[in-house]
Amino acid sequence: MSLPTTVKIVEVAARDGLQNEPENIPTAIKLEFMKKLAASGLKTIEATSFVYTPKIPQLADNSQVMQQLDRQPGIKYPVLVPNMTGLNNALKVNAQDIAVFASASESFSKHNINCSIAESIERFTDVINTAKQHNINIRGYISCVMGCPYEGDIELPIVAKLAKTLYELGCYEISLGDTVGVGTPNQATRLIQAVNQHVPIEAIAVHFHDTYGQALTNIYAALQLGVSIVDSSVTGLGGCPYAKGAAGNVATEEVLYMLNGLGIDTGVDFAKLMVAGKFICNHLQRPPVSKLAKAYFATHDM
Ligand code: MG
Repeated sequence: MSLPTTVKIVEVAARDGLQNEPENIPTAIKLEFMKKLAASGLKTIEATSFVYTPKIPQLADNSQVMQQLDRQPGIKYPVLVPNMTGLNNALKVNAQDIAVFASASESFSKHNINCSIAESIERFTDVINTAKQHNINIRGYISCVMGCPYEGDIELPIVAKLAKTLYELGCYEISLGDTVGVGTPNQATRLIQAVNQHVPIEAIAVHFHDTYGQALTNIYAALQLGVSIVDSSVTGLGGCPYAKGAAGNVATEEVLYMLNGLGIDTGVDFAKLMVAGKFICNHLQRPPVSKLAKAYFATHDM
């Protein structure tokens, strides 16, 4: 067992979180939210998505967000890019960091991005090659790594092969998404071991969902293998896209609390993170998803 000494938290609330919220948030609120996230010490803040906007009206202000965002030095603000149109739109607003995404499930790929896994590889190969010419940093996401809402179990070699493809094409980091949140710790261990056959452990990120309450345990299993990049969403923003009312993204404060307890450095200030969380919950006028945030807000005057 060798836990990492530092962990990079990739904050996904402003994109992955807000795109799963029913209401559209004004651009000014998103900008203020990201300013508060940046003030907490987070160094990677996913900002928006350039997916075809009628599909995700919550993020239809993607260009405005990027144009008006007060980008702090030393902070990356990745944006999701599905295809060449998305990349061109992201380039127009001077995005420096993008994320491409693929699914380890054939059915999910068809439902979510309307193409087979093989077609998605073709699509993101073009995106990655063009982005590289513009010196853009590219992150790769793989969804459904421990289960699919349509297919159930997912074969590990499929995930490992996709991770290898994305890494060899030039993604600096591969984020493994348990989109449905059904994975358990031994499964997480086997998953990371399989991907680590092709991708160095320093380049593997975990993006675990808490739908069945397994996220922190699965993250802990990943840390034990040396994984040092964790995706999370402050207050658990976003919910689960496949189970209404259930938890989705693991909450950043719950990850941070665990990492602090393990003596692992993240550079993130807990109290300042909670200020950002309180700000967005106030705007949404509803309590946070995460138990920790609920307890914290109840006991702190903010
Ligand atoms: Mg997510």
